[in-house]
Amino acid sequence: MTMQGDAYLKCIDPQCGLEYPIKSTNVQCTEGHLLDVKYKNKPSTDLKEVFYKRRNSEGSIFNESGVWRFRELLNFCQIDTENLEECSKYLVSLDGAEGRQSKPYQMSKAAEFIGISTKNLWLQPEGYNPSGSFKDNGMVTAVTHAKMVGAKKIVCASTGNTSASAGMFAANEGINCDVYIPSGQIAPGKLSQAYQFGAQILQVDGNFDDALKQSLDDAQNHEGYTVNSINPFRIEGQKTIPFRALEYLNWESPDWIVYPGGALGNTSSCGKALMELYEWGWIKKIPRIAVINSDGASTLSDLYNGKFENEELRWNKGKPNMELISRYYDHLDKEGIRPKTKATAIQIGRPANILKGLRALEFTNGVATTVSDSEMLDGMSVVGLNGFDCEMASGASVVGIKKLIGEEIIKKDDVVVGILTGRQKDAMLPVEYHQNPNNLFAIPPKN
Ligand SMILES: [Zn+2]
Repeated sequence: MTMQGDAYLKCIDPQCGLEYPIKSTNVQCTEGHLLDVKYKNKPSTDLKEVFYKRRNSEGSIFNESGVWRFRELLNFCQIDTENLEECSKYLVSLDGAEGRQSKPYQMSKAAEFIGISTKNLWLQPEGYNPSGSFKDNGMVTAVTHAKMVGAKKIVCASTGNTSASAGMFAANEGINCDVYIPSGQIAPGKLSQAYQFGAQILQVDGNFDDALKQSLDDAQNHEGYTVNSINPFRIEGQKTIPFRALEYLNWESPDWIVYPGGALGNTSSCGKALMELYEWGWIKKIPRIAVINSDGASTLSDLYNGKFENEELRWNKGKPNMELISRYYDHLDKEGIRPKTKATAIQIGRPANILKGLRALEFTNGVATTVSDSEMLDGMSVVGLNGFDCEMASGASVVGIKKLIGEEIIKKDDVVVGILTGRQKDAMLPVEYHQNPNNLFAIPPKN
């Protein structure tokens, strides 16, 4: 009982609105706009009970998986989702490990540091995914689509988390994976997981943008399948991050969901998840999204808050001021301003998903702000004092919440979910932090 034609691709620009069949591998419409995966059928809220019951997996890896447990809400394969055999034929999974350990936790020391009651603060570590970051949520769905269209290899440009996740799922599926990097600009250690999973590294003369361009050309001309975050199927899997948070809160919306801001794939997917859940009658209240940029890579915060040319950039019902964005990028080029933060996961000057991110902020009445590197290190460290490991960029969620409470944008009795996006990738960061007694949470070694 398949639902033929339920899922399709649609351009995000409401004035354009071009549609494509679900098996299309376009990541943009012919006018160059990003695409959304769309569903014609409205999933019944009875599924809440089904999802809850699947927590007892009864031997199914697709129930164990924190992504595929919600498969009816991202059913772009259009399969009869009760049939396990059919699931196995289509759905990619690392034996159910993606998203399996992800749920919101209460962390009392982080709450005390932030100045919020422990019961109102939830932090959700995504670093305990099999490759160590939130990327596995969206990569598992992108590679599922790659398998659906019979791709022979997957292709990405990456300097870290994306290549680790892509390489891992490609290896598990027995398909090839090409990773494009700007030659001489990436520390080999950052690619250690990609090497370990057998990905082919390709060095490109130029910068990251050149590497991305070449990876997209490769995808187009050599039957590669691109898995960078402009791939709309990445966004589908990443919707399960808020799904798991909401399910844990009995589908009662928190007041805020807070993310570190880099390429804005997380912001985009959270926004899409909330738009769909609201439209489908699954939630009554729309949580507000807060995006926390680094001071040194603050494109969204600058534009959204009117710090460039005094104009606050908005989605504006699908008519954002594209010229303003272009002028901002020209300004960065002209002044030689490069994104600069030790939190490399969010060291991004041109967020690929900025338009979907703006749409998410408009729908949720969201906010954007920035924090410093030293603040992020404090955030990372206080999470550690609760027994959880996270990378520096994830610390942005913690100190971002603290900053927004200080500014009375987040109220003290608001319920807040902060996403901790990845696990520690740089072993020396905590060592250096704790060796310096001036740091807030430092516990220096003794002789
Ligand atoms: Zn379009």
